[in-house]
Amino acid sequence: MKISVIGTGYVGLVTGVCLSEIGHFVTCIDIDEKKVNMMKQGISPIYEPGLEDLMKKNIKDGRLNFSSDHKSSFVNSDVIYIAVGTPQKMSGAADLSYIEEAAKSIAYHITSDTVVVTKSTVPVGTNDYIKDIIINNLSNDVKVSIVSNPEFLREGSAVNDTFNGDRIVIGTDNKYVADFMEDIYKNLNIPVFKTDIRSAEMIKYASNAFLATKISFINEIANICEKVGADIEDIAIGMGQDKRIGKDFLKAGIGYGGSCFPKDTNALVQIAGNNEHNFELLKSVIKVNNNQQKTLVNRLVNRFAELKGKRIAILGIAFKPNTDDIREAASIVIINELAKLGADIIAYDPIAIENAKKILPKEISYASSVNDALSDADAALILTEWEEIKEINLLKLSNTMKEPILFDGRNCFSLEEVRVSNVEYHSIGRPSLE
Ligand code: NAD
Repeated sequence: MKISVIGTGYVGLVTGVCLSEIGHFVTCIDIDEKKVNMMKQGISPIYEPGLEDLMKKNIKDGRLNFSSDHKSSFVNSDVIYIAVGTPQKMSGAADLSYIEEAAKSIAYHITSDTVVVTKSTVPVGTNDYIKDIIINNLSNDVKVSIVSNPEFLREGSAVNDTFNGDRIVIGTDNKYVADFMEDIYKNLNIPVFKTDIRSAEMIKYASNAFLATKISFINEIANICEKVGADIEDIAIGMGQDKRIGKDFLKAGIGYGGSCFPKDTNALVQIAGNNEHNFELLKSVIKVNNNQQKTLVNRLVNRFAELKGKRIAILGIAFKPNTDDIREAASIVIINELAKLGADIIAYDPIAIENAKKILPKEISYASSVNDALSDADAALILTEWEEIKEINLLKLSNTMKEPILFDGRNCFSLEEVRVSNVEYHSIGRPSLE
């Protein structure tokens, strides 16, 4: 199959590369020429394990190429995927301007019948809107079919997720097109679920909202655990052994972040509101998360009273390990709050520092290693559970830090480990050890 993918972010690039790996001829298109030039040389503009090797292999095999020119890329494309961003507007609703641009470009440039597949996360009804834009702007007499094919990959394991996903959702009102789409993915051996367009759009939002709910739920239980003297790690194990609950997404911490959960939960609240439904549960999930992102700051303030001039090491900036993505990361909220309180912040992340520098306050300094960050610090905050951060030797912390005081927002250490060290340890949903 000849496929074009519009947008080469975490979703578009991974999708394009993986589709080429399973035998399709793929052109990945982006408006960012700098990115396109990098990708042509087999260099990935994003950090995603395994991606660059697959890029290089498929470029060499002649199945993968990159372009900034929509028109020439669309020539003879059987399928065009839309994978552009749908960021959050000030109102909380999804910004569809990139989607609109992509749809217009398809309409202007396609010269043969085409299946248009929306991978981007879009509010219910948007695929109908995309169809209207394309039909109303077509330059040539061609037929267009629209498919909603929402994406479920996770950053940090996106390639693996694409090859081993739990399901592929195909939303279309045309049985022939549904079978055609199933055929594109036949080499992946992943269950395909076919449904109508609006249900497919809603499956994506409902899934993310449910996962966000699980996180806010366990964080609220953790907050109660701190008050009643129970241990959230044991609670999560005991709950997760019930198959109806499941053990995943029961990890207490400093709240969810990233480019999806915050914007998709807000968008679903908007979608509900636009349809005269007050989604109270999801509003609470969002509120709980916003509070949870500040919990370590509050505890630090309680511990030190005055943070001005205190050297605070931040360990981990990315919203989760194995990605350089810091969009909506809890670390941003925490670092900004600490900066406002006058703390002297030194931050470390294995790969997200360049992205962090673009948006964090100028006065933040950056360390080149965990040890460098910890050196002479009054306290350290663990915000991302990178392997190298989980491997910190607690027994040696007092040699490096001014005082070995650790606020662990990701519960990286067992209380047993901490007890045999002389570290003052504050974590989430467990008793503090002093
Ligand atoms: P991103 O912001 O990383 O990338 C979007 C890319 O599209 C950018 O490179 C941009 O330059 C390009 N672009 C914008 N307009 C274009 C146009 N007209 N032509 C060509 N390129 C254009 O976005 P992302 O994180 O990959 O997310 C894309 C969509 O997938 C969003 O709707 C998101 O909600 C959804 N999604 C993301 C994830 C994730 O983990 N990132 C997971 C599932 C779904």
